[in-house]
Amino acid sequence: MRIAVYPGSFDPITNGHLDIVKRAASIFDQVIIGIAHNSKKQSFFTVEERIELTNQVLKDLKMDDGKILVESFEGLTVDFCEQKKAAAIIRGLRAVTDFDYESAISHMNQKLAPEVETVFLIASAEYSFVSSSIVKEVARHGRSVIGHVHEKINLALLEKFKQSI
Ligand code: ADP
Repeated sequence: MRIAVYPGSFDPITNGHLDIVKRAASIFDQVIIGIAHNSKKQSFFTVEERIELTNQVLKDLKMDDGKILVESFEGLTVDFCEQKKAAAIIRGLRAVTDFDYESAISHMNQKLAPEVETVFLIASAEYSFVSSSIVKEVARHGRSVIGHVHEKINLALLEKFKQSI
């Protein structure tokens, strides 16, 4: 079975992330969305919330059971891949601005775990400007981000910002 790990913050998952997940699932037998839990990095949603929200959104994809899994991990992506027996790391590339950062991580991962290949999927045109940070910025001001995120994520964002006032 060819397993791929799609690691990231997913704070929160956007339609751009979802597009990458669907496309990765058409290439690999199983895709594990690895939600990075970094105690030193402040996230908007807790790791538990990010897992719950991601699972809610995935329900609508109606994929076969076990095709896409959501798990959190702490530490290095390559260690998580080893633990999961994953053959590949999936990353999405939007503009050239993603490239420097992504190539640096990819080179390091190649050194750490040469058996794990990083597979880059170019963002679909309609999502190439969607990012978790931009949707948070818009939602923070009380505006809907439907179209960029699933409606459940939109509600969760607006609700959480309301609570934090
Ligand atoms: P990280 O903090 O690891 O960058 P993100 O959740 O921001 O975590 O992103 C995870 C991965 O998804 C990264 O490879 C990022 O480039 C990719 N990504 C984010 N937004 C999009 C998008 N709109 N389209 C395609 N790929 C995306």
